[in-house]
Amino acid sequence: MSELHSTLRPGRLLIGGEWLSAQNGATRATVNPATEEKITDVADGGEADVELAVQAARKAFDSGPWTQKMTAADRGRALYKLAQLIAGPHRDELAELETLDCGKPISETKNIDIPMVAEMFEYFAGWSTKIHGDTIPPRGNAFTYTLREPIGVIGVIVPWNFPALMASWKIAAALAAGNTIILKPAELTPLTALRIGGLALEAGIPPGVLNVITGKGTVIGRPLVRHAGVDKISFTGSTPVGQEIMREAAGTVKRLTLELGGKSPNVVFADADLEAAVRGAATGIFYNKGEVCAAGSRLFIEESVRDEFLEKLKGRAEALKYGDPFDPKTRLGPQISAGQRDSILGYVAKGRSEGASVMTGGEAPSGKGYFVKPTILAGNNDMTVAREEIFGPVVVAIPFGSFEDAVRLSNTTAFGLASGVWTRDVKKAHRYARQVKAGTVWVNTYNMYDPSVPFGGFKASGFGRELGAEAVHNYTETKSVWIDLN
Ligand code: NAP
Ligand code: MG
Repeated sequence: MSELHSTLRPGRLLIGGEWLSAQNGATRATVNPATEEKITDVADGGEADVELAVQAARKAFDSGPWTQKMTAADRGRALYKLAQLIAGPHRDELAELETLDCGKPISETKNIDIPMVAEMFEYFAGWSTKIHGDTIPPRGNAFTYTLREPIGVIGVIVPWNFPALMASWKIAAALAAGNTIILKPAELTPLTALRIGGLALEAGIPPGVLNVITGKGTVIGRPLVRHAGVDKISFTGSTPVGQEIMREAAGTVKRLTLELGGKSPNVVFADADLEAAVRGAATGIFYNKGEVCAAGSRLFIEESVRDEFLEKLKGRAEALKYGDPFDPKTRLGPQISAGQRDSILGYVAKGRSEGASVMTGGEAPSGKGYFVKPTILAGNNDMTVAREEIFGPVVVAIPFGSFEDAVRLSNTTAFGLASGVWTRDVKKAHRYARQVKAGTVWVNTYNMYDPSVPFGGFKASGFGRELGAEAVHNYTETKSVWIDLN
């Protein structure tokens, strides 16, 4: 671990290519959630640091080489170089940092999170040279074309559940479109963001193009959202904070992309391949200890197979190996914090008081680390545990009778991020996909992602799409140019 520490710059922010202390000199510890021990100190930034970061990003956008000298191909090459640094020489280091800071099993950070971060930069590197407007034949004797221009300075605010990956979704697309960035990672998981900021400089992304500031959301996130020098905020996090950001952004009519919470339905019809559906239901809720915005946290099971299905799911939940995230065999790490663990256990207690029965789990194992045992609650769709996002390894199993019931129950929620459906009947699958109000529908699978496939929410799960062409468009402004030919 000492080697890892040599790549960290304790207490520093990355602003304009320089590693600076917070203006007020403050630092705070970041903690390993598996051991509850301090890893290192990071800068506890304030409003003065936001000001410096905005100036740096503004200068890099308005007059720096990124937009003034470098061509789209140059920008693409720099992003591709960053992808190579992340996938190759720095993969293990980033994976270990991520595991240390947020408790994800090393088998996941090494084989899923960090390789996917690299893929994001690789995919969007290719987009740099493929962003263009249209020529449009208008009425009259005129010639019209559109330009797709970068928006400017983008404030990127991300949560702690996929620290590097969520940051990369936004940064890669925004940089490909020629913007500059101020990245604010979650205060609980700042380490990989800072490291990627350093690697971006190594890859030839000029100083000031990607700035990384650490500190509390209410202290540095809020002034970033209010700042007139920031043109857009791209946020992933909870619905209440997303709502606040909408209100605060109104003052400067900022562009917004909001990826918010979810309470996604995972629907199992009796005609499904039940073994595959059990595996999918387990991955849907227990992957990343349930700290997944798209988690299949409401599991609807057709009545005729309910008992058999839940028995199998219980077996899988109880066999999941939780413990030391650095053990390659571990499948379930600790929750991100004591607060999050306690909130999850509070939901389980609330579920019990409203009549849900705990089929397995529902408690924290003894010992160090913020672990919660994989939990299955048998309940109904009106319970608090079925309405509110728990963000932990807790699934609510709910029986249904007919196709219409399944659709109605799925859509009886404030959210609309994702959904799963398990059936061998192709028509039923497509009918469900059309009727469910969700940004993503997985048929006979769950939790599939690709840099080219748009992802985002309906309803209270947010708006704007990340990934794919839609993400690129969300980081550009369209300008229409008219030329009189008379
Ligand atoms: P959160 O409290 O909303 O925080 C998200 C980010 O916003 C953090 O960086 C946080 O900083 C910052 N923040 C907090 N208050 C702010 C404010 N007033 N102004 C500006 N920024 C502010 O969410 P979380 O608890 O970290 O993450 C869990 C939630 O994220 C869940 O609800 C989950 O569904 C959602 N999520 C959604 C997606 C998606 O793609 N839709 C993906 C992942 C997670 P601090 O860390 O310093 O508080
Ligand atoms: Mg931490």
